[in-house]
Amino acid sequence: MDETDLRHLRRAVELAGEALDAGDEPFGSVLVAADGTVLFEGHNEVSGGDGTRHPELAIAQWAASRMPVEERAAATVYTSGEHCPMCAAAHAWAGLGRIVYASSSEQLTAWRESWGLPPGPVRPLPVTEVAPDVPVEGPVPELVLAEGPEAFEELLEAEGVDILAADRPPVV
Ligand SMILES: [Zn+2]
Repeated sequence: MDETDLRHLRRAVELAGEALDAGDEPFGSVLVAADGTVLFEGHNEVSGGDGTRHPELAIAQWAASRMPVEERAAATVYTSGEHCPMCAAAHAWAGLGRIVYASSSEQLTAWRESWGLPPGPVRPLPVTEVAPDVPVEGPVPELVLAEGPEAFEELLEAEGVDILAADRPPVV
């Protein structure tokens, strides 16, 4: 992980913030080509009722329909939160390359528990279990707080959920 990686990862976290500002869940992702060109940016858009509208799935579909196979394999996806199993599978089927994430699914699961939320509908398997051949780097502690608990607590409070922030587990 170098300074370029961190720059793209910060952008993914920034996109997560934009999602939050739009009343959506704070997840953002960026697709970057091998030469450093930013090809696609997106964030969660599930507030309309379609729970599949994750940026990592959009990136996989975008890449599969527009990029030659070898360019997909050389591209990197930077994402504020580790890919869920749906997106990890799409990433692998699309033949995309490295994944770099700020906070892990394990951390998100622990935060959800600390807030008293029920588990999501999909088991929070790590990318390495869903797509074992994909190189993965994360979590990145210095970016976890910005993406993780604080952003979610803001959203939950806006939705009127009574969160138990005092019980928040350690972030790293
Ligand atoms: Zn997903």
